[in-house]
Amino acid sequence: MLPLVALVGRPNVGKSTLFNALTRTRDALVHDQPGVTRDRHYGVCRPEGQRHFAVVDTGGIAGEDEGLVGATTRQARAAATEADLVLFIVDGREGASAMDDEILAWLRKSARPTVLVVNKTDGIDTGAALNEFARYGFRDVVATSSAHRQGIDDLIDEVVARL
Ligand code: GDP
Ligand code: MG
Repeated sequence: MLPLVALVGRPNVGKSTLFNALTRTRDALVHDQPGVTRDRHYGVCRPEGQRHFAVVDTGGIAGEDEGLVGATTRQARAAATEADLVLFIVDGREGASAMDDEILAWLRKSARPTVLVVNKTDGIDTGAALNEFARYGFRDVVATSSAHRQGIDDLIDEVVARL
């Protein structure tokens, strides 16, 4: 079986765009509307000459425990719990939000190996964006622009090294 990598993060940070960049498909729903991805969504990343791995795109992991949002949260948590590696995606333009803090707290409790992915770093000061998240204390951090396919190969190298 392929190792499983879960994409986790609050709505609208670019999880589905990253999923598409990793799996080279346009299968995942990418939308300006936050919270479009309701279900778990699986694909495979097949980097040339490197270990292949499965990827699961999730909806938001934080928030209410009831209703559709609650169901999405439970799904995302289940996906993260069964994953070999979690990619915690944040928005480099908006910086750390309360919901990011909430997800971080959950990830720390879940104790899954996690790489921080600071996305949307196109056209901004990447160093400053990374600094915004320094207090999260991650050893492994990768800056990406999923929309422009920047940093994706570095991210794949980081993932493969951790699997
Ligand atoms: P999700 O809710 O986390 O799955 O986020 P989506 O992948 O649906 O993306 C939300 C919005 O952010 C869409 O309008 C994307 O086009 C945009 N987006 C995603 N990645 C990037 C990026 O690297 N740079 C920029 N500028 N926009 C991005
Ligand atoms: Mg999505």
